[in-house]
Amino acid sequence: MRFFSLSTLSLISASLLFSAPANSTAAIDSLELVDVHRHVHNWVSPTKLETEMRELNIGWSGGVGAPYGPFSTQPYSDLLKQRYIATIGQVTMSDIYKYRGAKGLEDPEVSEHRQMLVEAERLFESGSIKGFGELILNNEHSNPNPSFRRKARIDSEAMVNIFRVADKWGAFVHIHAEDDPESVAQLKAIATNFPAVPIILAHCLFTADTLLIDTMLSEHSNFYCEMSARNESMFSGFFAKKKAAEYGWIVYDDQSLDAKWKELIERHKTRFMIGTDTFNRSVDVRKTIHQIRRGLLANLSPETAVLVASENAIRVMKLEK
Ligand SMILES: [Zn+2]
Repeated sequence: MRFFSLSTLSLISASLLFSAPANSTAAIDSLELVDVHRHVHNWVSPTKLETEMRELNIGWSGGVGAPYGPFSTQPYSDLLKQRYIATIGQVTMSDIYKYRGAKGLEDPEVSEHRQMLVEAERLFESGSIKGFGELILNNEHSNPNPSFRRKARIDSEAMVNIFRVADKWGAFVHIHAEDDPESVAQLKAIATNFPAVPIILAHCLFTADTLLIDTMLSEHSNFYCEMSARNESMFSGFFAKKKAAEYGWIVYDDQSLDAKWKELIERHKTRFMIGTDTFNRSVDVRKTIHQIRRGLLANLSPETAVLVASENAIRVMKLEK
């Protein structure tokens, strides 16, 4: 031992550390994550969220609203500062839909919509929010609750107003839509009109059509996909699993990633993100994170795994600590 200098020893230990494959279980489990689809609720206090993030090695969390209350996510920002990815739009749009239906979501004259844009300007100016989301514009098949289902135009005048504000502040727009031809055409239209606004497709459009996503990502550099609710544990119970299998929603589980999706993600490695979509109490965050790490990230190349785990979200959402 006396033949080795201290620096030689540290070199040896460093090479031992890095001799494990970069996507070994240990490496994957130690990746810091950005959860871009983390709904908070009355039963998830800011302290509870902070503890969860620490325990699960999640650096940033949010990207969507708190649709069933507490509605205001300010207490989460107060505690977590920039590590809570604050957004605007989900609660207001839920209210507009509740009282005015899908047409209300398209109408730029609706007073709640106008007020929201004034509020958005104020919050972007003070650096309090990072984007709009989650804007649910088409969940005809992808929501378990029929009264919550809707389909509205994605390139409506109301949406154009939202995109103008996002464009002005360099902010993202996180949209929940499905893959029917109308919604896809509207998404492409608004992506073309606002090429500088990152559009994050929640749940990667809940599509099974990897060719469609390949085309959308190739043709529009401002589309991104987040892979929440595409994991097996999201669909517990016989009927939920049956429907998910029928629609091709499940892409990864505890250990495997669908081959077509693996190929798609590798081809567009700078365009994918992860999320938990904790839309209600039934979502098991720990199980979901386990599947994100061991089913999704562990099956990607080491370089892609880091991008999908955090770097894409950090870059696109302009996250800071
Ligand atoms: Zn959601």
